[in-house]
Amino acid sequence: MIRLQNIEKVYRTDTIETLALNSVSLDIAKGEFLSIMGPSGCGKSTLLNIMGLLDAPSKGDIRIDDQKTEGMNDKQLAAFRNKKLGFIFQSYHLINDLQVLDNVELPLLYRDTTAKQRRELAAEALEKVGLANRLKHFPTQLSGGQRQRVAIARAIVGRPEIILADEPTGNLDSAMGNEIMEILLNLNRNDGTTIVMVTHDENMAHKTHRLVRLFDGAQVQ
Ligand code: ADP
Ligand code: ADP
Repeated sequence: MIRLQNIEKVYRTDTIETLALNSVSLDIAKGEFLSIMGPSGCGKSTLLNIMGLLDAPSKGDIRIDDQKTEGMNDKQLAAFRNKKLGFIFQSYHLINDLQVLDNVELPLLYRDTTAKQRRELAAEALEKVGLANRLKHFPTQLSGGQRQRVAIARAIVGRPEIILADEPTGNLDSAMGNEIMEILLNLNRNDGTTIVMVTHDENMAHKTHRLVRLFDGAQVQ
């Protein structure tokens, strides 16, 4: 589903050059739930951003669903990303002056959908994460765990084949973190969604199919 070959990422400024990823190769199968662990600064977010086509590698190849994304222009890349991928971040990244339902509808604005379809799909996604009773709330009126559930609803509303999650439980206490993890496990088991999750939590990582450890930009196992 996702194939990375010899990915290298160098961040350059006038004065410094950082090798963030050093020849990382990774094959992620359809339906797999993979976690990525490693110390701060080892390249986890960089790797996830490259998989999510949010950032380009300095060298190496990426294929998603057997399609090469190299050479796509920004518009093609955005459309491909919107169709194939859902993103979840540690800090939720919700829009605070939009109601929950409107936040979840956002990814559908780039699709050929009517307002009514968008409402229905967003309400369905919110029901799936247990928030059917919070449609008209604003994000600031919700707990951290609920906000992350809104973010998951937004990530799944377009039925992506792949979810990329950057420390989705990092800001949550263990009870709320476990709830979020259960939702992700169910999406993987029931819908066959491929999930790649960065985490600092060994317990969460051990619930997934496979754990990849990064150290200093390279894969250690
Ligand atoms: P992690 O997610 O594992 O904490 P990151 O992928 O964020 O690590 O960062 C990997 C390395 O790349 C770090 O050394 C970091 O300082 C560097 N880095 C990340 N983003 C940038 C950037 N935009 N410019 C320069 N260096 C960066
Ligand atoms: P952290 O928690 O480490 O501060 P986040 O999890 O908030 O970082 O974000 C991870 C990465 O995704 C960052 O490099 C950020 O620039 C990028 N990012 C965050 N939100 C979005 C977004 N809505 N669209 C695209 N990229 C984003």
